[in-house]
Amino acid sequence: MRRVTILGATGSIGSSSLDVIARHRDRFTVSALTAQSNVQALADLCTRFRPAVAVIADAAKETALREALRVRNVPTQARAGTAALAEVAADGQCDTVIAAIVGAAGLLPTLAAARAGKRVLLANKEAVVCAGSLLLDAVKRGGAEMLPLDSEHSALHQCLAGARAMQRDVRRLILTASGGPFRTRRDLSRVTPTEACAHPNWVMGRKISVDSATLMNKGLEVIEASRLFDMDSGRIDVVVHPQSVVHSMVEFADASVVAQCGTPDMRTPIAYALAYPERIDSGSASLNFLTLGALTFEAPDLQRFPCLALAYAALRSGAGAPTILNAANEVAVEAFLAQRLPFMQIAVVIEEVLERADRSAPACIDDVLALDRAARRAATEAIERFSTVTGA
Ligand code: NAD
Ligand code: MG
Repeated sequence: MRRVTILGATGSIGSSSLDVIARHRDRFTVSALTAQSNVQALADLCTRFRPAVAVIADAAKETALREALRVRNVPTQARAGTAALAEVAADGQCDTVIAAIVGAAGLLPTLAAARAGKRVLLANKEAVVCAGSLLLDAVKRGGAEMLPLDSEHSALHQCLAGARAMQRDVRRLILTASGGPFRTRRDLSRVTPTEACAHPNWVMGRKISVDSATLMNKGLEVIEASRLFDMDSGRIDVVVHPQSVVHSMVEFADASVVAQCGTPDMRTPIAYALAYPERIDSGSASLNFLTLGALTFEAPDLQRFPCLALAYAALRSGAGAPTILNAANEVAVEAFLAQRLPFMQIAVVIEEVLERADRSAPACIDDVLALDRAARRAATEAIERFSTVTGA
């Protein structure tokens, strides 16, 4: 029996994970569930899954959570605050932690799970982009195991099964990208948050939806792939594949290409990682090749989607650049969602912050957090300056 803790249980990945778990009550129990601030949604999940502990990250909502659990007659213990997130992630009550918090806010609890030697199922790509090799070092030192939930990285993991010497056997990793909602739209000057969040193939949280629209999501995934599979940027390609059927590919030294396919449904990579190395039902529909139609591939347009180029550049320059890129992006996306920043200005803010920042390599997690904070301040200033100039 695997005892699973879900960080970010009320989100899109959290609910897909619970859907898979509910199909296999004989294999998985839920140890702890966490959420940022939605007390009612968290308490409802506790009614259904009966975890030992529930954590609400917003410390002001502890009493509300306790009360919501009491009226539902659920014996789950209520806890609150960000320190409690890391504590439940490292707790001996669980052996598997699903890291599904969005943004660098997920770094410390994910790190705690890695240090405590858990099986970490990583959806929170920002954590690995922001902390870089420090998170992977913690996985090694803690005797933990990290399995990707991101569909592209799950695909790569599956394609690489049997590859023994990564650097010698593998020629390149090929990440597919749907192209997002604006793949064919010429003028991106007046994009609204609602349009940016209307993804053609996936229903996801708002932050990753905007990242998919700017292609920063693919940029973060290139960095994530480089870290998880120890490949340099020159051996990671991105190809736009609007149907989202091929989830990614690996080309080997002999020019053989292995692709992983399936219907676009996050429950497949979640089930793969939860049961690894076994295979279990995910609830996803079978792929019907006869009704699929054409699968097409095209190059990403770096003029309209400069965020992808910025992410490649940050990966190439290394040191603190990916941490800064990620933090500036989080702030810029939030401003875009709050209608304080135009869509095309997201990349401008990130580029400016990267140019001005001290990009020295973080030597420890405290350095990462300091870099992250400085980049957030710089991004906030850049956005304010921009609004004063344009009156936006
Ligand atoms: P979401 O916004 O739907 O859910 C985020 C979850 O994290 C919620 O439970 C929320 O309560 C919690 N949370 C948010 N901010 C928090 C904070 N500061 N402290 C503590 N908890 C916080 O997001 P999502 O779409 O589920 O994405 C989660 C992560 O998974 C992201 O890193 C995203 O890039 C990655 N991911 C998502 C998908 C997808 O299909 N949704 C696919 C691949 C990767
Ligand atoms: Mg992905």
